[in-house]
Amino acid sequence: MKAPGFTGGIVDRADWLRHDAAALEKVRRDPRAKLLDLNGLDPVLVEDRLGWTPLQTVDDGEPLILLGLIDDVAHFTRLDPQPADGARHGGIFDAITRLPEWEAALYAAARSVSDWHKRHGFCARCGHETAPFRAGWARKCGNCGAEHYPRTDPVVIMIAEHDGRALLGRQASWAPGRYSALAGFLEPGESIEEAVARETLEESGVRVANVRYIASQPWPFPSSLMIACVGEALDDRITIDPNEIEDARWFTRDEVRAALAGDPDAPFGAPPPIAIAHTLLSVWAGVE
Ligand SMILES: [Zn+2]
Repeated sequence: MKAPGFTGGIVDRADWLRHDAAALEKVRRDPRAKLLDLNGLDPVLVEDRLGWTPLQTVDDGEPLILLGLIDDVAHFTRLDPQPADGARHGGIFDAITRLPEWEAALYAAARSVSDWHKRHGFCARCGHETAPFRAGWARKCGNCGAEHYPRTDPVVIMIAEHDGRALLGRQASWAPGRYSALAGFLEPGESIEEAVARETLEESGVRVANVRYIASQPWPFPSSLMIACVGEALDDRITIDPNEIEDARWFTRDEVRAALAGDPDAPFGAPPPIAIAHTLLSVWAGVE
């Protein structure tokens, strides 16, 4: 199986540095230390690699997020990266797919944590302002002392299989012809297997059992963990929920392989390689 997008990181997250102010200050003062270049939350590429700025250009007092160590060199990103003047947005997925796997993984962490800081300036318990600590991996309330940590939201993404065919669906907002795995957020009090069964039933009317885990990926828009699974459908009758999806159909392995290969005669358009749905379909169809 090809590693899912946004996985394959090589950075040492160096949790110990987050708890050791003196050691953190030392790596921050290292002239080799680097700051990730961002345009807002989007990456800034230099010849298809992530761009970095020497950390000495940053004000000493500015709190930063320690992404970790690579060959003992500290790599940081800003808590609230600002849009670059005159820079154009768009094309972020095109940019990400040009990056080496480990850089896409590092970018995913930077984006998710920065985005979390932007949205968590106030305490969820008492409403007072919070401030960053633990090298940017937590915030603390200045009033009640509550500690808040970046969250990861689990999402199940799954194929139901029946008689050699896979159930895929599409949302009205997607590109014409695109079909992909069904997906939905786990709810409190559910196991992964239960969430797969519930979401498949809600969206398509298909009941599944014997759910098996395939792979996972972080998805930093803003903070999901995609958990890819396959379940066995108990029958093949489809009753879609039109509030969730526009259509759902069964596709054979040959049809899925044709779509993954980009065959113009394929009966549907496959999700892009960076999405774990692509990984999931590849595993199910026996590609790679
Ligand atoms: Zn508070």
